[in-house]
Amino acid sequence: MSHPPKAPSILELYPEETREAAALLKQAVPQMMRHDIPPNPIHYALWYTYSKGTEPELNRRLEKTVADFDCFPSETASKLFRDYIIRGELEEARQGQKQVIELVDDIEGDISRSVVGGQNYQLSLSQGLAALQEPITEDLPSVLNDLQQSTLEMQEQQEKFLYRIRAAQSEIQHLRSQLERAHIAATLDSLTNVFNRNAFTRLLEQALSTDTKGVALVMLDIDHFKQFNDQYGHPLGDRVLQHVGQLLRDLLPPRAMAARYGGEEFCVILRECFDLHSAHAFAEQLRIKIQALRVKVRSTDKVLDSITASFGLALAQAGDDFESLLTRADDALYQAKRNGRNQIHPASPEEALSA
Ligand code: GH3
Ligand code: MG
Ligand code: MG
Repeated sequence: MSHPPKAPSILELYPEETREAAALLKQAVPQMMRHDIPPNPIHYALWYTYSKGTEPELNRRLEKTVADFDCFPSETASKLFRDYIIRGELEEARQGQKQVIELVDDIEGDISRSVVGGQNYQLSLSQGLAALQEPITEDLPSVLNDLQQSTLEMQEQQEKFLYRIRAAQSEIQHLRSQLERAHIAATLDSLTNVFNRNAFTRLLEQALSTDTKGVALVMLDIDHFKQFNDQYGHPLGDRVLQHVGQLLRDLLPPRAMAARYGGEEFCVILRECFDLHSAHAFAEQLRIKIQALRVKVRSTDKVLDSITASFGLALAQAGDDFESLLTRADDALYQAKRNGRNQIHPASPEEALSA
């Protein structure tokens, strides 16, 4: 009888990731011990991320908290966990969190059993050694026997513990990908599948904090969309938004990111864009494709060919922050609307040509 081939385990599939995770935990645990932070899942997650160094703001806040407080306040921990680890209150993330809690509880149980075992072992070792320092008595065989017995028990406990750790590793891997999926879901707009406003804010702030040079912002807004909704209904309006989301994803240049900023307004962050020519070329392509969209009214089979959008462009300058860049793009968009819609407007003529 032939057996189906055995599926590779997660550990076999991702040995690097698991090793990396283990290395990070190794750094995180001594940090927690140094600051007397109780080992619970939230603290593990925070200090794991601290060791990873991917959230500099979190690292600053953790360092400040341990400097300011004798004991790590649990409300601060929960808040940091919400803000930097799960970023939202998604059911899936909560589920993942619950599983992590159960898992860490299990491991903690094993660790304490192992620690108690270790303490007992040390106790019988020192008793044994003390007995050995006494003048040789006829008790020696029984002392040695006791020591051997404790060693065997200790070994058995360590083996059980190692087995649990190995099983936990693959479970952690699974939970990690579950949390990653939840994290992605928390950053995407569910209707259009481009980034949501929260993610956009973070991405633009990040882009501007690393290097303002080469960052450009394209802001677009569908023309007369209220009227469209009133005339053809909200569900058809939603379909238009989905089409625009799809076009954005299809046309996006490398390293660019598209987001739904609000209702029928989208933003694109362009990188490596040193004047507005390439931003203009991208917006023009999008403008033409939106104008070419044909959506069908299901009830009447009527095909609509009237969808257009207006665009505002702004190029990041030295000293720009999220708000100043967004305001310039928004003002430019407003000008495009005022000039008659279905067109592109740069924030300023100099900006359109600046190098
Ligand atoms: P303008 O050309 O000046 O942008 O006019 P407008 O009608 O597009 O602008 P306005 O801001 O007055 O209206 C925006 C409309 O977008 C209002 C609302 O009906 C519609 N809208 C916002 N969010 C959604 C959504 O998620 N789905 C649908 N179908 N419509 C939405
Ligand atoms: Mg509009
Ligand atoms: Mg609008």
